[in-house]
Amino acid sequence: MMVTAKSARMAAVLCGLIVLSQAQEIDPGLTEVWDPVPRVVTPGEGNAPCSDAILLFDGTNASAWQHENGDSVRWEVRDGALTVRKKTGDIFTRQSFGDCQLHIEWRSPSEVSGESQARGNSGIFFMKRYELQVLDSYENRTYSNGQAGSIYKQSIPLVNACRKPGEWQSFDVVFMAPKFSEDGSVRSPARITVFQNGILIQNHFEIQGSTMYRGAPRYEKHDAREPIRLQDHGNPVSYRNIWVREL
Ligand code: MG
Repeated sequence: MMVTAKSARMAAVLCGLIVLSQAQEIDPGLTEVWDPVPRVVTPGEGNAPCSDAILLFDGTNASAWQHENGDSVRWEVRDGALTVRKKTGDIFTRQSFGDCQLHIEWRSPSEVSGESQARGNSGIFFMKRYELQVLDSYENRTYSNGQAGSIYKQSIPLVNACRKPGEWQSFDVVFMAPKFSEDGSVRSPARITVFQNGILIQNHFEIQGSTMYRGAPRYEKHDAREPIRLQDHGNPVSYRNIWVREL
């Protein structure tokens, strides 16, 4: 039989109609999933905490934090900000967290002094040991895996999204805690995604271990939940509007 272009087109149309009619016979309800029902969370205005957030600093009250020895924080609370007071030491949340979403706003000093790592250095350590670097990286060159928004000495931020010194900026973070086996080996490493001022700077990065200043990072088994720690690196970096959601 000779297949003409016309008959081939006709066959294609018929095939299409058959497939279409078969698809129409499938009940669309078969692919609807009704359970579970997501619980309701009421968003906050702007960057304000949502209804299920745990407030860690509201601008006036730093009681969610303590120094390592349990002392109340000696950092300065003034004008709605919590500011590093040099040589008073790092501060830790009293509550411990595993997988979490964190919103935190920070400001490097408007008076620019020092350079590289000595300018507006602080840091947010998840589980006390995995550092998301805070630094004045506005026109301040340092090693790329140590600039603001880096996972310190492990991951360079995708872009430099820093505002000028003295301006408030935000980190929004999704942190997934590492999971360990009984024998201490890593079952799944920690993961981190970070937005700085709404811009993606870390995309589901696999953390390689505890932050190290010297040498390679490595994991050491720890609890499923640990405090969040803010670093006193000797520079008067300020924080405000800190809230966390457990995931
Ligand atoms: Mg630091």
